[in-house]
Amino acid sequence: MILVTGASGYIGSHTCVELLNAGRQIVGLDNLCNSSLDAVESVKKLTGKEFPFYVADLLDEESLERVFSENEIDSVIHFAGLKAVGESVAKPVWYYKNNISGTVNLLEAMQRHGVKRMVFSSSATVYGAPDEVPIREDAPTRTTNPYGSTKLYIEGILRDLCVADPEFSVALLRYFNPIGAHKSGLLGENPNGIPNNLMPRLCQAVKGQMKELTVFGTDYPTVDGTGVRDYIHVCDLARGHLHALKKIEKDFGIFVYNLGTGKGYSVFELINTFSRVNKVEVPYVICPRRPGDVASVFADPSKAKTELDWEAELGLDDMCADSWNFIKDK
Ligand code: NAD
Ligand code: UDP
Repeated sequence: MILVTGASGYIGSHTCVELLNAGRQIVGLDNLCNSSLDAVESVKKLTGKEFPFYVADLLDEESLERVFSENEIDSVIHFAGLKAVGESVAKPVWYYKNNISGTVNLLEAMQRHGVKRMVFSSSATVYGAPDEVPIREDAPTRTTNPYGSTKLYIEGILRDLCVADPEFSVALLRYFNPIGAHKSGLLGENPNGIPNNLMPRLCQAVKGQMKELTVFGTDYPTVDGTGVRDYIHVCDLARGHLHALKKIEKDFGIFVYNLGTGKGYSVFELINTFSRVNKVEVPYVICPRRPGDVASVFADPSKAKTELDWEAELGLDDMCADSWNFIKDK
């Protein structure tokens, strides 16, 4: 059985659908600090399958112990964590406690129960401002904010664990920019409060929940001066976890993979595609660069293709259509 932490979150819920559809047995855990039980109900509805779900916090060791003793867990896919860059700058200690102590508690519970496989949600943020694009997994790592540091430190903890225990296997998945939603419109990203990322902000601007989208900088050395990112459909990303799991079920050690499409799109390209596909106007205003942003970030995803037999299949049109389909009536 696979324990999915952060199972009701954006990427976790889509991954639960993939796992259940592949016939895997899962148990979900989430403290609901950034998600709701609606996502769990949607996963059950979409798959027609039931699974145990615990409203539990990784910081609560007793609850974790209960989850491990009540279920036959053999692998963990670990999504749970806080992910807002700005909030992490304002509350670094809280981010280190939640993300790092939470992971350490989880690893202790795994050790007590002899569970030796983990797929971990890392991020392209560990590359900081990359020296070159496309980015390969062996590029230098450096972080520019506490959120990114939690990812890099957890990667380090997992590396140490794999050295200490040669029977441990870990896949570190460095996600690029997940957007999109499940085709059904039942699952997607509906962040609490004011979102930071481009797609949820763009959707809020179209819905009139925000006056206009702020385009952060048109003077980057890119195709049209706006920032370029590697947007990946959340369903492609979710599928990648199943491939990573198969890899660590087969091989011991630590494996690092970029999960991206390998294609970069600018902010204007995203706005134009969104407008065309959904037949809506995107009101926007040009603003100065956002501090800390870099011009261009996109993956070299060839390692995941060679070693995991995985590659992204959905394009920017699908990402824009599915994001809007999920959020337009919310
Ligand atoms: P999300 O916020 O939708 O999901 C994370 C889930 O973890 C939430 O449901 C939240 O309630 C839960 N959680 C947080 N702290 C917890 C704790 N202490 N105990 C139990 N549950 C807890 O975020 P997401 O976009 O689905 O991201 C999943 C993972 O992927 C995160 O680790 C995130 O850092 C990482 N990631 C996300 C992105 C992105 O752009 N969405 C990019 C790279 C990496
Ligand atoms: N961006 C923007 N306006 C916004 C939010 C983001 O122009 O309101 C730009 C940002 O400068 C970057 C791209 O959109 O070039 C993606 O930003 P996001 O925060 O989604 O991802 P990240 O920068 O973390 O990769």
